[in-house]
Amino acid sequence: MAAYYSDELINEIIASNNLVDVAGSYVKLKRSGNRYVGLCPFHSEKTPSFQVSADKQLYHCFGCGEGGSVIQFIMKIENLDFVEAVKFLAARANIHLPEGNEKASDGEFFRKKQKMLEMYVTAARFYHSCLMDEGGNIARSYLAARQIDLSTVTHFGLGYSPAGYDALYNHLKEKSFDEGLMLESGLIRKSEKTGKYYDFFRDRVMVPIFDIRGNVIAFGGRTMAKSDGMKYVNSTDSMIFNKSKTLYGLNFAKKNCSERLILVEGYMDVISLHKYGFTNAVAGLGTAFTPEHAKIVSRYTKELIICYDSDNAGQAAVMRALSVLSATDLKLKVLVIPDTKDADEYLRLKGAAKFKKLIEGAKNHILYKIDRLKQEYDIENTEQKIEFVTKAAGVFSEVGNEIEREAYIAETSAETGISEEAIKTEVNRISYKSNNAAPKRTYSTYKTAEEKQDESVFRAQAVLLSLMCGDITVWRYVRKETDESLFDGSPLQAVANDIYSYSAQNKPPDFSVIISKTEDETAKKLCAALTSQQDVENPLKAAEQIIDRLKTEKQKQLINAAAGEGNPAKLAEMIKNLKK
Ligand SMILES: [Zn+2]
Repeated sequence: MAAYYSDELINEIIASNNLVDVAGSYVKLKRSGNRYVGLCPFHSEKTPSFQVSADKQLYHCFGCGEGGSVIQFIMKIENLDFVEAVKFLAARANIHLPEGNEKASDGEFFRKKQKMLEMYVTAARFYHSCLMDEGGNIARSYLAARQIDLSTVTHFGLGYSPAGYDALYNHLKEKSFDEGLMLESGLIRKSEKTGKYYDFFRDRVMVPIFDIRGNVIAFGGRTMAKSDGMKYVNSTDSMIFNKSKTLYGLNFAKKNCSERLILVEGYMDVISLHKYGFTNAVAGLGTAFTPEHAKIVSRYTKELIICYDSDNAGQAAVMRALSVLSATDLKLKVLVIPDTKDADEYLRLKGAAKFKKLIEGAKNHILYKIDRLKQEYDIENTEQKIEFVTKAAGVFSEVGNEIEREAYIAETSAETGISEEAIKTEVNRISYKSNNAAPKRTYSTYKTAEEKQDESVFRAQAVLLSLMCGDITVWRYVRKETDESLFDGSPLQAVANDIYSYSAQNKPPDFSVIISKTEDETAKKLCAALTSQQDVENPLKAAEQIIDRLKTEKQKQLINAAAGEGNPAKLAEMIKNLKK
């Protein structure tokens, strides 16, 4: 999103919030020359890949590829949008932000988002009052039957959506909300037949879903109707809600989960766990556990205990979540609830003390997987025993710690009568195979010659632009010698346009301001290119060399294009020019 504050103001805010201090308050940074390094707050790691350049005021992680200015850092770590991050940093530096100086379009987006948040909190209050009213009788008795008391109802803001057709619609209308926005919010629908507006949630116990800062961004609804097909319904994604990036309860759990987080299946489980004092529980929202969820979780905790429903569907979901989580460095455990169907029922029947014991005894994910295999195979049968040990060897090959691995192998050997030696050989064979499989296409792994070439051109362009921003003489020189067309077709086109068209008196534009306004992926790549760049001794000379290189590159491209057209005369002419 582009800025809606002036460049001067953004400049002042960036200048008053030194990235080393700001990032240093979230990450322990160690100085190394002109750089600071630390463990990346955006992915889970054991050796530091996160670095901050003090003079460039940019950060970059070569582990996960994140990068940007202080504004992007705050956007990501605090989960804020651009405008909110600017406000956050302005407050941090005691800078007064003038009201009403936004550019029309961006201001409109921001206002719309604010208005939608306002609509959701209005709806939440409305649903809550409906629960407390006489009409909320059925819902209240349902909650009472689940042993959800009044203080829990208030804490989680629970409510009831009336059974009628348009109760919420009328309420929102009364509060002067715009009908277009109502439709966009998903709370209200419009009948195609009659053209009438109607409520999406009807006759349901309502659970407001919060973002990390406690704003209501969606709802979940549990039906009270006996015949209704859909027992649980959630809000659809909107401009304020993305279910694959939201974990229910994290706003409550975030203070108590630095050591351990419990992942349960639904919001009712979360509510129940919190009620019994387990305030470090969260849940997904009816979707599978996503890589985004994994990233969020590893930002908040060291250990994750998965505690899904004990039925087959629940246990299959555990396996899928484990496979998503294998990309993190989290300590993973699985708790299978005995005798009852889920954590909520177990707590109600057996109480908190027993549940606490279960948590303490949760199995690590390797042992859990082995248990699953044991259920699948009968090891009294030779054929099945071979299958079992082969599959188990596959699981053991995931274990990084050799001592741990040995212990599992010894145990399996004792259980099956197959020698440790044989199991070890199989484990090593599988590890060798997966280590030598086609390399994963992650950051900074294998690249084709063409990609390397593109990358080196990108790097040259990035350095040239940053040199322009660092020195008014260079800025003037580059503009005299070239124009924006040097960047045609480059991901840096927009950035280049911005820098070239800047009307400098005696100071070129500030590069971290430019980066702050740059689209996410490009900003990350820019920071990657620049933080690995050595300090340039003679910027003018360096700019000159880069321009030469880029111009040659440009000609090569044109020649390739001409060759593709099949025009030999034109081609010969161009090659002649290139040699000059
Ligand atoms: Zn990282």
